[in-house]
Amino acid sequence: MKAAKNDRAAEQPKHPPRVWPGGIPLESLYTAGVGGQIFLRALKERGELVGTRCAACAQVYVPARAFCERCFAELSEEVAVKPEGTLVSFTFSYFDHDGRRLETPQALALVRFEGATTVFLHRLLKVSDPEQVESGARVRAVIKPKAKRSGSILDVEGFELI
Ligand SMILES: [Zn+2]
Repeated sequence: MKAAKNDRAAEQPKHPPRVWPGGIPLESLYTAGVGGQIFLRALKERGELVGTRCAACAQVYVPARAFCERCFAELSEEVAVKPEGTLVSFTFSYFDHDGRRLETPQALALVRFEGATTVFLHRLLKVSDPEQVESGARVRAVIKPKAKRSGSILDVEGFELI
């Protein structure tokens, strides 16, 4: 069967693209930024959860930020919050990063620490069934002992229900 005159599949580019298979060896280094450094340094060195407060609009960001996301003011007032807070929302993941089914579902929590106006995302520990938890529950951040902290967000193991 002869292709119709306007059939795009039948058109051949005058100079078809050439392909060279291969890879580009690149590494990337993610920096935490000014606010992230404040948070991660306090977490690693003192086991504290530190945010920044906006004097202009009273937002308290945990983790710390360098600029207010609401009014764009520069933030320099550091605020340490207690590791306790309220579970604002949660979800469960049934698959790992590669799409393989997890043996035990992983619960993830959005928590507002006491004194903070923002929420913090981390694992919810020792919970594997949505029936075990509800929004509004009180939770506590579990922070690794100093010898095991490396300046990573994973220095917080997650949240446990209290
Ligand atoms: Zn502000």
